[in-house]
Amino acid sequence: RVRVRFAPSPTGDLHVGGARSALFTWLFARHHGGDFILRIEDTDRRRYVEGSVEGIVESLKWLGLEWDEGPIFQSQRLEIYREHAERLVAQGDAYPCYCTPERLEQVRAEQRARGEPPGYDRRCRNLTPDERAEFEAQGITPAIRFKMPEAGTTVVPDLLRGNITFENRLLEDAVILKSDGFPTYHLAAMVDDHLMGITHVTRGEEWLPSAPLHVRIIQAFGWDLPTFVHLPVILRPDGKGKLSKRDGAVGVLEYQRAGYLPEAVVNYLALLGWSYGDQEIFTREELIQLFDLKEINPSPARFSFDKLAWMNQYYINHIISLEDLTVRCIPYLREAGLVPAAAEDPTTPEHAYVRSVVALLKDRLKTLAEVVELTSFFFTEGTEEYPADLLVPRKTEPASVLEGLDRTREILADADFEDEAGMEAALRALADEIGLKAGQLFMPIRVAATGRTVSPGLFETLRVLGKERTLARLDVARD
Ligand code: GLU
Repeated sequence: RVRVRFAPSPTGDLHVGGARSALFTWLFARHHGGDFILRIEDTDRRRYVEGSVEGIVESLKWLGLEWDEGPIFQSQRLEIYREHAERLVAQGDAYPCYCTPERLEQVRAEQRARGEPPGYDRRCRNLTPDERAEFEAQGITPAIRFKMPEAGTTVVPDLLRGNITFENRLLEDAVILKSDGFPTYHLAAMVDDHLMGITHVTRGEEWLPSAPLHVRIIQAFGWDLPTFVHLPVILRPDGKGKLSKRDGAVGVLEYQRAGYLPEAVVNYLALLGWSYGDQEIFTREELIQLFDLKEINPSPARFSFDKLAWMNQYYINHIISLEDLTVRCIPYLREAGLVPAAAEDPTTPEHAYVRSVVALLKDRLKTLAEVVELTSFFFTEGTEEYPADLLVPRKTEPASVLEGLDRTREILADADFEDEAGMEAALRALADEIGLKAGQLFMPIRVAATGRTVSPGLFETLRVLGKERTLARLDVARD
C-alpha cells in the first residue's frame, strides 16, 4: 500500500514550491488509493514562525489537499528520536560530540584559511574513554553525530534520476541530535518515515546532497530504503535562480486573497514538472487518474506568474459555471459592502441580480477580487458624485448633451429594458434628431448610468441595471 507524506517545516507561509510538492504527493496517494500523511517538522526552534502551522493547514485545505493522518508534530516525539540516536551510539554508528560552537567556528576558519572545504574535523569521533569522561565531568551536554564511512561510496537510488553515487570522503559526520535534545531533520525524518511506513519519500531536490547520509542512517538501523523522489526545483520566470519572494506572490494564501480559484492554482502547479502530452486543462479527477511520479521531469521547472494568471482567468471565463462563479464572488462584494446578506441565498432576487451582473462581466474578470472594482456601479445607489467632465465628450456642446440626457430619460421611462435592440434603435434615432453622433450621446448615457467611461456594452448594461436604477442615475447626473 502506498503511504506518502508532506512534511513542511513551520518556518513561514506555504509557498507555491511547497504546495507543488504537496500536490504531487497527494496526487500520487490518491492515484494509488494510498495514504497521505501531514507531518509538521518543527524541531528547529530557531526557525519556528508563530502561526505558520495554521497557515499551512489553511493553504492545504484551500487547495483541497486533504490528509488522511495528521498533522503529526515532531516536537511531540522527542523521546522517540532520542532513543533512536542512543541506539546508533550503542551500536557504534554515532558518537557524542562535545565541541562548542566557538570551536567549530574556529575549525572552519582554519580550513578556509588553508583553502579546504569547511566541515567538521571529527575530533570527537576518536576521543579516548578518558577524554570523553573528562568532558562529561565538565557537565557538557553533547550533541550526537552520525559516523559516515571515511572512504568508498554511497549509492542513492532516485526514482527520477536512477542511482546516484556519492564519494563518502566528501561527506561530514552530521549532527543527528542537538545538545538541546532536539533531533535534526536527518534523524527525525528518517525515523518517522520508517515508523510511519512511508513507501515513497517525495521532497525537494535541495535534499539530494544529504541523501547519502540518509541512506547510511537508514541502513545503520537495518531498515529498507523507501523510494526516493527528489522533485525538481522551481526557477524564476527568467530561469535565473530559484523562485523567491522577491519575484512576486509566492504564498499560497496570497493567491487566495487575490481571488484566484484553487482549481486553477492546482492545475497550474501540476504542470510544474509534470505534463501529459500538450493538454493544459485538467480536472482534479483527471489529474488523479493521469498523474504518475515516474513521469516527472527532473530538470528544473520555470514558474510563470503570467501563465498562472492566464489559467485563473481561463477557469473563471470558461470552466466554472455562472452560478458557481456568482457564489464565489459574493463574499468579495459583501466584504466591500456592496450587496446585502440576502444575496447569499440563491433563491432571492438579490442573488439573481448579482448573477446577472456577473454574467455581464464574467469575460473581463481575471480574479474574483476584481469583481468589486468591475461591478461596483451596479450596486451603488447612483447618488455618488459624477465626474462632470466625463459627462460631456470632447467636441460636444454641453447644451446638446443635457438635452440628449433629458430626452433619453423620457424615452427610457417608457422603454422595455429587456429589449436591448429596441432601446438602441430609439436612442440612435434620438441622436440623429438632435444632431449628435451616436457616440456623442451614448458616452454621456454610459457615464450617467455607470459613473465610468468604460463598461460592458451600453444596452446590456442598461438591461441588467433595470429601469428604476437607470432613471434614478440619469436624474442624479442631470442635476
Ligand atoms: N521539512 C522538510 C522541508 O521543509 C521536508 C523535507 C521532506 O519532505 O523530507 O523541506
